[in-house]
Amino acid sequence: MDLFPVFLDLENRDCVVVGGGKVAARKVGLLRRAGARVEVVAPELCSELAQLAADSSISHRARAFQADDLDNKVLVIAATNHEAVNRSISELARERNIPVNVVDQPELCSFIVPSVINRSPVQVAVSTGGASPVLARLLRARLESYVPAAYGRLAMLVESFREKVKRRFTTLEQRRQFWENVLQGEVAELLFAGREQTARECLENALQQSEDVPHPIGEVYLVGAGPGDPDLLTFRALRLLQMADVIVYDRLVAPPILELARREAERIYVGKERDKHTLSQENINQLLVRLAKEGKRVVRLKGGDPFIFGRGGEEISTLMDNGVSFQVVPGITAASGCATYSGIPLTHRDYAQSVVFVTGHLQDGSVDLNWKALAHPNQTIVFYMGLHGVGVVSAQLIEHGLPATTPVALVQQGTTQNQRVIITDLQALEQTVAREAVKPPTIIIVGQVVQLHEKLDWFHPLPGANPRPFGGTPHL
Ligand code: SAH
Repeated sequence: MDLFPVFLDLENRDCVVVGGGKVAARKVGLLRRAGARVEVVAPELCSELAQLAADSSISHRARAFQADDLDNKVLVIAATNHEAVNRSISELARERNIPVNVVDQPELCSFIVPSVINRSPVQVAVSTGGASPVLARLLRARLESYVPAAYGRLAMLVESFREKVKRRFTTLEQRRQFWENVLQGEVAELLFAGREQTARECLENALQQSEDVPHPIGEVYLVGAGPGDPDLLTFRALRLLQMADVIVYDRLVAPPILELARREAERIYVGKERDKHTLSQENINQLLVRLAKEGKRVVRLKGGDPFIFGRGGEEISTLMDNGVSFQVVPGITAASGCATYSGIPLTHRDYAQSVVFVTGHLQDGSVDLNWKALAHPNQTIVFYMGLHGVGVVSAQLIEHGLPATTPVALVQQGTTQNQRVIITDLQALEQTVAREAVKPPTIIIVGQVVQLHEKLDWFHPLPGANPRPFGGTPHL
């Protein structure tokens, strides 16, 4: 069951903490930071709490808990070592509808205290619903390093300008755009660099200079979505996904990645299934230009890396010709992601000193490669889009000198919960693809490094964990 997350206003409200040890002291600290008036009930206090009591920062009842300690309290925390006492506090509090937390006993709690990343006034609270406080703490530690320390100051700066900005821009959309520019631009950077006064001036200028109706300037971000596992996105890709107005994506982009985009963003599917291009490349290029000229921030989301068999070059060339500004964000390419998730190092001191990425699908449908250069004993070859040409691939590589027993891995839907790895060899490749009904997207890894899979295979997707196939829900 999911708990309902809230942030309580406890300023000058009466709260009671039962227990006088170190754990109680930590909770008292949290309550005091929120401005609560705290009463501690305990026969004895640890030195930290004793100090607070001596300063009259808390009030202290030096005795065991009794029911009337709950009178007029808005919140109670039980932190005693006695289970029976904790239980009776929980029951009494529940009878009176007073929110109660019993340290380390989630079954006795009506609320839990989350792990908090504090950038006051910004607070990020993490909860596992009581399942694992340690996990919540670990997650908190990660977020600590991710949220800049100056976020709190940034929030305060924004707050001091809120009314002014509201008066200047009448619509919500205008204000959102203004604030997004501020929070991701120079003002934020100045503040993070500790130049608060300059940041304030810069914000004032931005407000003065902006036209009454800010003319939105469109931009295109050509973003690599990686091979499928959303954890393989870059921070930048995630940030841009979360601020885009429009996402233009194709079949190779895994559904869980699309789900990370801003909820209101328009999603446009442009296909790219082999031989069934929903929009021609030319039309995609023009679509990007049109959307940007309408003032939209467009994420052109591509599987893997946009510059590896992604036609990213063509797309930005059209943008460049039309004077549309853009950024390109690299992604983990299928070769790298699939090889890693199937325990096949693409290079290895003993087996391969070079690796080549080639496409097995050429413009005119044939496979015409420099076989002599490819068929190299100490080289790994990764074929993208190669399923249709496997017969030609194995025949040519064998003809140009690779042993017929050279191991081959087929990695289908690599890095996703549907990953399949099939090991075969050059002579059996075509047969294997047919017998196993291998489907795109699949990459083919050829070379002695494939032997290492047996030992180094480490990624075992949970069967049925994510049954959605790629491209199964193109129109989200
Ligand atoms: N720009 C992409 C490649 C696009 S070409 C990249 O850098 O990865 C499309 C081909 O990539 C597919 O036919 C397939 O061979 C390969 N591919 C992409 N994602 C894949 C995945 N998750 N598993 C296996 N192969 C994948």
